[in-house]
Amino acid sequence: MSDTIKYTLDEEHLPRAWYNIVADLPQKPPAVLHPGTIQPVTPGDLSPLFPMAVIEQEVSTERYIDIPEPVRDILRQWRPAPLYRARRLEKMLDTPAKIYYKYEGVSPSGSHKPNTAVAQAFYSAEEGVKRITTETGAGQWGSSLAFAGSFFGIEIEVFMVKVSYQQKPYRRAFMQSFDANCIASPSDMTESGKAILKDNPDNTGSLGIAISEAVERAVQRDDTKYALGSVLNHVMLHQTVIGIEAMQQMEMADDYPDIVIGCTGGGSNFAGITFPFIGEKLRGGRDVKVIAVEPANCPTLTKGRYAYDYGDVASLTPLVKMHTLGSSFIPPGFHAGGLRYHGMSPLVSQVTELGHVAPRAYPQLACFEAGIQFAKAEGIVPAPEANHAVRAALDEALRCKAEGKSETILFNLSGHGNYDMQAYTDYFAGKLYDQEYDESELAMALSGLPSAVGM
Ligand SMILES: *Cc1c(COP(=O)(O)O)cnc(C)c1O
Repeated sequence: MSDTIKYTLDEEHLPRAWYNIVADLPQKPPAVLHPGTIQPVTPGDLSPLFPMAVIEQEVSTERYIDIPEPVRDILRQWRPAPLYRARRLEKMLDTPAKIYYKYEGVSPSGSHKPNTAVAQAFYSAEEGVKRITTETGAGQWGSSLAFAGSFFGIEIEVFMVKVSYQQKPYRRAFMQSFDANCIASPSDMTESGKAILKDNPDNTGSLGIAISEAVERAVQRDDTKYALGSVLNHVMLHQTVIGIEAMQQMEMADDYPDIVIGCTGGGSNFAGITFPFIGEKLRGGRDVKVIAVEPANCPTLTKGRYAYDYGDVASLTPLVKMHTLGSSFIPPGFHAGGLRYHGMSPLVSQVTELGHVAPRAYPQLACFEAGIQFAKAEGIVPAPEANHAVRAALDEALRCKAEGKSETILFNLSGHGNYDMQAYTDYFAGKLYDQEYDESELAMALSGLPSAVGM
């Protein structure tokens, strides 16, 4: 039995600890730098933004970190999340491969995001925080934090990328059900929002802009903190419940994956399913092929640079070393809003640089096609983001068929698409295109990387 299973699961199969991959990396992660001084940040620098418990997790090198009981009490509502063998899909593809998927769509907001939202809301409440500000792309993160905040009596303020705000009224209604305040970004509530609107009143927003607005609001008041739904180390940590459970569920099925697949926006569901398996490998255990799947028009891991960059457009956030397309890069509008971020988790980036991850990029039409094929076999319509993982799983299964190999494939189905039917409606109406990103815009965004910062 793997150490991870032994140390992290109780008799109910509910994780009692998170797995921190930093403990097993050959080098410590590169320092996070202060945007003003370009020196390593101190916990004090981050304390206006995050609760102290979260800051400690951000820099922790402990392998296993206990999950507080009040967090487990809420997670228990839908965890352990089911792991299914996709037998009908295997048959449909006529592949000798075995396909398993971990299903995160069973959470209250329909994705993996509450796994960290609940933990972050808990630590904020413990430290007396009254309000949390955040940004949301497609709305999944805002929905998850709205739900988690209401459980702990915390007011939630969400800056939602304007294009999604207009496209996804159901997500807004979901947030409203939990009394969260949802604002279209760029907004005139912040200096960064006003500056952008002055430049272009029709700006449809981006995650980078929404982050600037949420951070600006958080630092203005002592009782307000900020929460991020992806990218940072503590978020990767909280998501490892996915892989920990999957590891035990695979063991119950008397199997072990040859290939583990996740889609990547900021990297959290991918880290969640893959880090426990990569950790096993780093400690000398079984080898595993790990595939990160990103959209072809926001190709952070496949076309970005591994360099220090800001997390937002206004350069308010600390600098982190990560794969990035440049913080001024705005990808063309496409229907997997949760994958439209210029950067990547520093931990996912580091593990990729170390050669443990094979990244690949797919255009959106091929992903929708895979998602619909999956739905016909398994009965679940995936979130547009999750379709990227489905596409890779299908392609790997078809490769196995061509090569006559019976490999075991595990992928994370990060969420259902029940709030994303507009995307499917557009797809069926032939209104979705594989729009290329602008090469010259990417080159410009990359050339704007903060060059003063050393390696
Ligand atoms: C937000 C989201 C993603 C992308 O975020 P990661 O941090 O990369 O996981 C993927 N799938 C779903 C369903 C999401 O809601």
